[in-house]
Amino acid sequence: MYYFDPHIHMVSRVTDDYETLAKMGCVGMSEPAFWAGFDRGSPEGFRDYFRQLTEFEPKRAAWYHLQHFTWICINAKEAENVSLSREVIKLIPEFLDKPGVLGIGEIGLNKNTPNESTIFMEQVELADRLDEQILIHTPHLEDKYMGTRMILDMLDDFADLDHGRVLVDHVEEHTVRHVLERGYWAGMTLYPVSKCTPERAVDMVEHYGPERLLVNSAGDWGPSKPTAVPDFILAMRRRGHSEAEIRRVVYENPLEFFSQSRNFEFRPPEVPAEADK
Ligand SMILES: [Zn+2]
Repeated sequence: MYYFDPHIHMVSRVTDDYETLAKMGCVGMSEPAFWAGFDRGSPEGFRDYFRQLTEFEPKRAAWYHLQHFTWICINAKEAENVSLSREVIKLIPEFLDKPGVLGIGEIGLNKNTPNESTIFMEQVELADRLDEQILIHTPHLEDKYMGTRMILDMLDDFADLDHGRVLVDHVEEHTVRHVLERGYWAGMTLYPVSKCTPERAVDMVEHYGPERLLVNSAGDWGPSKPTAVPDFILAMRRRGHSEAEIRRVVYENPLEFFSQSRNFEFRPPEVPAEADK
């Protein structure tokens, strides 16, 4: 089955991973800007990272007929440094019109601090002003519930924001309802050590229905599994879901959400849809 991974950090993965993803049915991915595992020392470090995301990764993906899209921002962890963050925010607009750039993300909270909140708000303001889509990271483990509530409260300040163009990622059982109820898209991250398992993601699809739900691997430089979306596809089959139901979550939903970005020029695979059913 064809699928799309809506959240994966390919800069941290080797080229063999692109090949494996292509062989497993992946046709494309979206890569949010994130923390590289160390704090960068200057805005120029971010400029080079944004160039890697917009210039080199799409090429590397294309070697395996994969279509690579990306998001630009200062991430929540490095947002603790407010002055550096503001320098990086000034760089963002020059990348927003590059091919394949879907919007601003993944912004959000990490430890739910005042500095993180300040920079989160400034980036939502920028996205709102420039009519960009937004991808949001919610914190880990014990910080998740509080951080998600804080994020949703802060978004409430933007009365004109189109909730259907905002994706709140890394939801779990205790946060997904709050996100969906407000009309946002929700992303479930399949991680081997935290976040969500494929079976728990299937539970949430069964409980809430497939509308505005996405699943991703969030594969990165830590313990993670870039092929986690195929694990979800298998878990859905084992629970008796039809191919059409599975395809809705792993293929049609990401395309529906990303199609709202002016830079999402996706070329569907050439095999007729019927052959994939
Ligand atoms: Zn991420």
